[in-house]
Amino acid sequence: MLLLTCPHCGIDADETELSPGGEAHLTRHGPGATDEDVEAYLFLRDNPRGVHLERWRHANGCGKWFVAARCTVTLEVFGTYPAQTARPPQHVLDAIEAKRPGATRKLPVMEGAR
Ligand SMILES: [Zn+2]
Repeated sequence: MLLLTCPHCGIDADETELSPGGEAHLTRHGPGATDEDVEAYLFLRDNPRGVHLERWRHANGCGKWFVAARCTVTLEVFGTYPAQTARPPQHVLDAIEAKRPGATRKLPVMEGAR
């Protein structure tokens, strides 16, 4: 069972209380975007075997969106943070690096950040 801590209300919620929202930190393009940019936003998603940043909604709780950093293989959760955050907070990155050295460099949101 997947158990995530909602960063808004602090409750440890199991997956029956949550709604998945797919990959986090997608780049939205405005007017003038290329067809390839729009296609990537609408259809192209990473499906990694390992650390993944995912959007979740505490649907049967506070109703707010957040991001969970977790391993898709082991379901290990490295941390959660509000969905309005532009990039993973340092404590989440540190938790990932402590258990999966080098994994943060592979996160799409971190491209060009290091
Ligand atoms: Zn909540």
